[in-house]
Amino acid sequence: MQNTLFVRLFSALLLLTLVASGSLRAWAAGEESRGGAAVIAAGVTVEVAGDKTRLKVALSKPVNAHAHFMERPDRVIVDLPEVTFHLPADTGRKSEGLIASYRYGLFAPGRSRVVIDLADAAVVSALHAAPNDAGTMATLTIELSRVDREEFRRAAAQSRTVAAKAAPEPPMPKANVDARPVIMIDPGHGGIDPGAAAAGGGTVEKDLVLAFAKLLRKKLEAGGQYRVLMTRDQDVFVSLGDRVRAARAAKADLFISIHADSISGGQDVRGLTVYTGSERASDADSARLADRENRADAVAGIESREVADDISDILQDLTRRETRTFSHGFANRLVGEFDPVARLNKNPRREAGFMVLRAHDVPSVLVELGYLSSQKDLDLLMSDEWRGKMAAAMSSAVDRFFAARLAKQGTAVVLP
Ligand SMILES: [Zn+2]
Repeated sequence: MQNTLFVRLFSALLLLTLVASGSLRAWAAGEESRGGAAVIAAGVTVEVAGDKTRLKVALSKPVNAHAHFMERPDRVIVDLPEVTFHLPADTGRKSEGLIASYRYGLFAPGRSRVVIDLADAAVVSALHAAPNDAGTMATLTIELSRVDREEFRRAAAQSRTVAAKAAPEPPMPKANVDARPVIMIDPGHGGIDPGAAAAGGGTVEKDLVLAFAKLLRKKLEAGGQYRVLMTRDQDVFVSLGDRVRAARAAKADLFISIHADSISGGQDVRGLTVYTGSERASDADSARLADRENRADAVAGIESREVADDISDILQDLTRRETRTFSHGFANRLVGEFDPVARLNKNPRREAGFMVLRAHDVPSVLVELGYLSSQKDLDLLMSDEWRGKMAAAMSSAVDRFFAARLAKQGTAVVLP
């Protein structure tokens, strides 16, 4: 008993010393979360006092935390080991003190993140995860202090190199040993980036599209004709560039990004839409949507990186043109298969500059399954029967797409 008390006192002293040293890195007393039981966040409170705002998160045990800053929009990003957040759905939506809003979630396997959108320029003046008196729980405190624009800019500039290092490594696909076509399914958003939300915030895009993507994978794998991969198969953040890189590294023959939209004040706007990539959007709504979807990296607190080109421009242009023809062909087939079974958007075939559709050598489409802002669409999106029908329609569009490609290459194919 005495021994434990001594360790606890010593830990508390060590923690105080580290925090007092001014380091933004808060070293937790006690064990690292890695290897131990999962850390759980069970509650959040916000305290506003003059020029300071404190965000306090109740954790099941102490953790290491590290903060950095980003400008335009102004954000504070706090990196943590993997934390499971058990918090009400509307947490972080309210503006309080220096906090305009905040988000939290898994950023990469084993790593979680809190991203705070700032209402005004501010830096982190204290960051620690002190164990509470009983030593069984801990409170992570993120203290923000108002600063002038210049000081914030300096803090953001200093953070930039750290942020670059913190970007997750692209997932490494396994070596392709079979000759079957590779299909990369890309469930949008994930982890810290929830995507669109239904009214009330309980249902979010990242969960709906992941459930749908898993169903689609099952349907596509059932015939045994394809190797089906996913850019994510859990609630984790994947950057837009890494989604494209994963498709290219796996030499995917088809990339299908799955999303669900939301539009404010547009309860009547509904239906399924199929997009292909293009520098010029087909219409203003599509341009706005692509802008919104392209902000996913900023939402999670990383800088978007363009996908590096690795061959000469002329060759790339040729490949791009051919790829575009395949993308359009598949998108049209999708609309054709959806038409008899789905409620389509009034203009179901659109184009816009989505970052995830930029692989020059992978035919790519982005499907917006419907609008979370429409109760009728939301009911469909939540229905197992509807999801099954849509996944079946997509799967037969995939069959027809590859049948046509093989036919072009001179191989006889029997359509299912
Ligand atoms: Zn989306």
